[in-house]
Amino acid sequence: MDNKMKFFNTLTKKVEQFVPNEEGKVAMYTCGPTVYHFAHIGNLRSYIMEDVLEKSLRYIGYDVKRVMNITDVGHLASDADTGEDKMLKGAKRENKTVMEIAKFYTDAFFEDCKKLNIKRPDVVEPATNCIDEFIHMVEVLLEKGYAYIAGENVYFDTSKLKEYHIFFNHNEDELLAGVRDDVSEDINKKNKNDFVLWFTKSKFEDQALKWDSPWGVGYPGWHIECSGISIKHLGEYMDLHCGGVDNIFPHHTNEVAQSEAYLGHKWCNYWFHVHHLNDKSGKMSKSKGEFLTVSLLESKGINPLVYRMFCLQSHYRKPLEFSYEVMDNVATAYTKLKKKVLELKKDEQVDKAKFDEYKTRFEDALCNDLNTSSAITVVYDMLKATDINDTTKYELVKSYDYVLSLDLTKEDEVETKAVDAELESFILAKIEERAAAKKEKDFAKADAIRDELLAKGVTIKDTREGVKWEITQ
Ligand code: AMP
Ligand code: ZN
Repeated sequence: MDNKMKFFNTLTKKVEQFVPNEEGKVAMYTCGPTVYHFAHIGNLRSYIMEDVLEKSLRYIGYDVKRVMNITDVGHLASDADTGEDKMLKGAKRENKTVMEIAKFYTDAFFEDCKKLNIKRPDVVEPATNCIDEFIHMVEVLLEKGYAYIAGENVYFDTSKLKEYHIFFNHNEDELLAGVRDDVSEDINKKNKNDFVLWFTKSKFEDQALKWDSPWGVGYPGWHIECSGISIKHLGEYMDLHCGGVDNIFPHHTNEVAQSEAYLGHKWCNYWFHVHHLNDKSGKMSKSKGEFLTVSLLESKGINPLVYRMFCLQSHYRKPLEFSYEVMDNVATAYTKLKKKVLELKKDEQVDKAKFDEYKTRFEDALCNDLNTSSAITVVYDMLKATDINDTTKYELVKSYDYVLSLDLTKEDEVETKAVDAELESFILAKIEERAAAKKEKDFAKADAIRDELLAKGVTIKDTREGVKWEITQ
């Protein structure tokens, strides 16, 4: 098959032709979420762009197997035994067990993905399912002399590698973009970059999840899970590994170090990294407390697919700044585009030659370093073209939407049902009563009114233009 996909490979620092190990097949891995809180829309930018990459590969004919981990083992803020255990912090905050927290936020993550039309990967594997695999890897690394025990923990010895900083020359300035906050020194380490493979001695005496191991009761280090899970499901050779740019160092650097030391050969040829979403105050982060979620967007009346379109209109290798003003503009463009598509006639003969010509144009945009904004321009150009009939246009949009996943040909589900005048004045009176309750900070009453309406099949939404309501049952 024609390997026409090109994208920026962080490993070679070049836009390169993507050639998988096995013709026509792609073994793809994505670092999944740490499930101690909701995903913020920055995290979801990464997952949207990875989804577009996966769908583009499928669109041009590849058979893709995609694996994602769920980080449900306590995930420290750094390699040293410092920072805080995020899962434990979440559990304490919500008075739940760590596993309850993991289940709740894993489900919440996939709910968000569904709203954003992000396809669920073929394999989703929680780290807590794979402890035996991680222990086995650590045993092999010790046997091969790539690991050592110090202070009752097992460490990876980076001095045993020919090259550790495979993504960057060891230039601190270049590393800055990828470094996570809160890195401090651990006196057990022989070398600055060594990292923990297995903890038995942690400053977290109340670490909730622990397992028996040849080195005592403990838990895996931060990076081993992605190596273990990807090798378990994709085998010894992987084609494509993805994540946000903050994963490049140290997470992906350490993944490569331990995987290649364990396997004894090169592991993954292509690395795809998505740049960050920022807001006016800087990079979005879960640990900062307040952050933007899909539900927050919805509560402001923003359709999650408008956010998806916003992401697609910019290049994945550029930082992107979120603002409500831009979101309003994208919402207007989205509604117009969808209206145009839905008005197309659907009963003509499809012009096969034109269909193929415009399908190729769309593919070429995607294959040019995943240029999604050019791909969207192809949609507009095609809709404007005077030499294609409506039905061919409609079929093309349907086909493009496999990748774009903006529901461009989907009629809106909620039909406005006829509402009698009496019900309408009842709803409006309740909405007013609720606004008064909110003003007096009587949120319990406000919630009770919302529930009372819901029980009558009326859903209300607080938007920036005021309260909106619809009959949903
Ligand atoms: P986490 O749940 O923190 O492990 O992050 C999940 C994914 O989101 C990873 O691939 C991160 O690299 C990515 N990520 C984190 N912050 C941002 C951001 N502000 N913008 C885009 N991607 C991000
Ligand atoms: Zn990972």
